[in-house]
Amino acid sequence: MNTNTTGSTRPRILMIYTGGTIGMKENVETGALEPFDFNHLLENVPRIKRLAYDIDNYQFEDPIDSSAMEPAHWQQIARVVENNYDSYDGFVVLHGTDTMAYTASALSFMFENLRKPVVITGSQLPIGEVRTDGEENLITALQIAAAKDLNGEPVVQEVAILFEDYLWRGNRATKHSSDNFNAFKSSNYPRLAKVGLGITYRREVMWRNPGHDPFHVKYGMDTNVAYMDLFPGINENFVRHLLSAPGLKGVVMKTFGSGNGPTAPWFLDAVKKAIDKGLVIVNVSQCENGTVLPTRYGAGFGLEKAGVISGHDLTSEAAITKLMFLFGQGMSSDEVKVAMEHSLSGEMNEQ
Ligand code: ASP
Repeated sequence: MNTNTTGSTRPRILMIYTGGTIGMKENVETGALEPFDFNHLLENVPRIKRLAYDIDNYQFEDPIDSSAMEPAHWQQIARVVENNYDSYDGFVVLHGTDTMAYTASALSFMFENLRKPVVITGSQLPIGEVRTDGEENLITALQIAAAKDLNGEPVVQEVAILFEDYLWRGNRATKHSSDNFNAFKSSNYPRLAKVGLGITYRREVMWRNPGHDPFHVKYGMDTNVAYMDLFPGINENFVRHLLSAPGLKGVVMKTFGSGNGPTAPWFLDAVKKAIDKGLVIVNVSQCENGTVLPTRYGAGFGLEKAGVISGHDLTSEAAITKLMFLFGQGMSSDEVKVAMEHSLSGEMNEQ
């Protein structure tokens, strides 16, 4: 355990409250759930005091439903972590579930040489409700953020999502249920830990940053990116219009199966023309599980020949935030194409 700046040997955790269901209360007029303040949340979890930790809080001035998240909020979270990195053993980010996987992916790219836990959690039911999952999630996230191995090193040294029974790598996770307490899933990467009577960590699958370079945040994010979800009958006008949108730099194309798309000449022509003009198009499958194998079928080969690059087994959340991040670093299209095919922080299998 570190002796921290206060001289205490208790783990020191910083909780960052951004909003989300976990801290929401019902609006008496509309009946809709709306973000509330952090004190309300803490009043409902008296058990926190039984953890022998020193816990400090940072709260967004206006807590938000995570559907309102923007890169500026990711930058705000990142700034808080950077400003407090040396003073805390770990960080717990309380966040709505709707865009949690985007935030987790974005932060995982923005944080360079992270060697402390950043555990993101939230809940499906507000913390004030009798059957809330928020209390367990919050307590478990704090325990994970405080966990050290026998050498005194943090067990988790990456951005992770803790939800109900599992700890996932943040940039591998997707919200798969709006109803189930186990709301997140990671179909292409194993869980980092299973939460039961105890917390069983799987150290062999955890991310470790090599070397000893200091922690550093890369803040740039460029939002000139878009999704293009393919479907049978997709319209030529729409495709040409989207791919020639002013300022657009990168597109995540959500393809069929192992990376296949329409073989119509107009489609491949539109894609090739856009790429020739400098657009980066990344092929990510609509399937939750598996990877893009562009040369397996002729329907994928055509895309590859047109210059679409493989997103391998990236989640669509990781793919779009990675594009934003890479363009945000001032990279050229050619540089982004190369970087997209390499893992930055364990978000994809390069094979
Ligand atoms: N709409 C909420 C949010 O993302 C849902 C949740 O927190 O579970 O903020």
